[in-house]
Amino acid sequence: MRPYTELDASALREEVAAGHRSAVQTVEECFARIDALDAQLGVFLSTERALARSRAAQIDAQLARGEPAGPLCGVPVALKANMCLEGFEANCGSRMLAGWRAPYSATFAQRLLDAGAIPVGMTNMDEFAMGSSSENSAFHVSRNPWSREHTPGGSSSGSAVAVAAGLVPLAFGSDTGGSVRQPAALCGIHGFKPSWGRVSRYGLIAFGSSLDQVSPFARSTRDLELAMGVISGRDERDATCMDENALQPIVPDDERSLAGVSIGVPREYLPDSDTGEVAQCVRAALESLRALGAELREISLPHTAYAIPTYYVIATAEASSNLARYDGVRYGLRVEGSGSLQSMFAATRGAGFGAEVKRRILLGTYVLSEGYHDEWYGRALKVRTLVARDFEQAFEEVDLVAGPTSPTTAFRLGERAADPVAMYQADVLTVPASLAGLPAISTPCGFGAGTPRLPIGLQLVGPARSDARVLRVARAFEAATAHSKERPPLALEPAR
Ligand code: GLN
Repeated sequence: MRPYTELDASALREEVAAGHRSAVQTVEECFARIDALDAQLGVFLSTERALARSRAAQIDAQLARGEPAGPLCGVPVALKANMCLEGFEANCGSRMLAGWRAPYSATFAQRLLDAGAIPVGMTNMDEFAMGSSSENSAFHVSRNPWSREHTPGGSSSGSAVAVAAGLVPLAFGSDTGGSVRQPAALCGIHGFKPSWGRVSRYGLIAFGSSLDQVSPFARSTRDLELAMGVISGRDERDATCMDENALQPIVPDDERSLAGVSIGVPREYLPDSDTGEVAQCVRAALESLRALGAELREISLPHTAYAIPTYYVIATAEASSNLARYDGVRYGLRVEGSGSLQSMFAATRGAGFGAEVKRRILLGTYVLSEGYHDEWYGRALKVRTLVARDFEQAFEEVDLVAGPTSPTTAFRLGERAADPVAMYQADVLTVPASLAGLPAISTPCGFGAGTPRLPIGLQLVGPARSDARVLRVARAFEAATAHSKERPPLALEPAR
């Protein structure tokens, strides 16, 4: 039996389905790994071992009866704490929802259960998915498995570390402006943001509804395809969800060939003048794509510089409205004020939300307020259209756009915590595709020049609904290079 940590979800599923290992054994290996590493890494906000064990036993019993094995049969998975899964604590990394257990399951989570996956716990995150480092979690930070002094990125921090450190082969985050792609890049794993509307948002606790997407992390692109095949598709509970069946992977005759694929490299993402470690590493990755037959072309996405300010108007506007529901009445925390309902609202929100969440509610309320709405929110929507048009024009010429996922490797915990604008810059290369609703992947492409060795991600962005194409190109890159096989040093320690 191959050790748990060496198997991706696809391989693990095969072993369970074939009876080479039981689901019960598999979750025990997962828990042993969590026990060995989680105290150092800060991955989980809660685990639900009894639920996971009984589910595993149920799967083993089904297999013993000869029932068909689901596509994720016996695979332990971790979910970000802003996802509803009945009986699990979905606290969103916030004091506001500490102890709040979801009374129902998100559509995508129910599909995971139906496919035989075994959720083991809820992962740490920046509060309400606002942040890029895990430092906005109300509970604790998460640490990068490549260097514990460094951030794993955010806001889906725990889910990224869970996969990178081999605690689970597959985990889910939410990507609004980059919260899956950026931590995937910083932790050296794959993270895929589907086209907006590919995966139902029912049961994903809302931050910026026009941007949020459930997004998987994995150690192989085939696992991303596997996960997407399970969670994608129409849902009558989310009217914005695509009326399309699960995404069909493109399986070419020659998996490695990229002949006939044209890839645009935006000069705004990778200027010639940039000789930094990330730019150099990504240029080498682009050369690998060329060697596989892809044609590279320099393109321009001229509104790139406006993406961050536009995002921080639109996302905060949506957040201010979405977070209005936490008022001490219906969910979670309630702090009595001086007797009036108004003072109870104020006391609850004052105590329940952290500084970054408050900052965004204030900003969002301002940009939507009478007299400022057109000037701020209305204008941001127009610029959002311009950012989307940049991509549309590019995709008249090229099949995909490529560049770095993050402008830097992982930064040190503490380094940007006091400077929100520096923190927001972490998203400069992921936010444009988010504003345009496009599918995008971050795939490992090497390491920075310094010590400790810190991973770098290559981002590939495709036209709307071209999810299968994005995954197919990432898969060719993965097959032709060794980057995805790299594991952080601690991931090689045997589970105790
Ligand atoms: N870091 C970005 C933010 O703070 C992105 C967050 C996300 O995608 N959820 O808004």
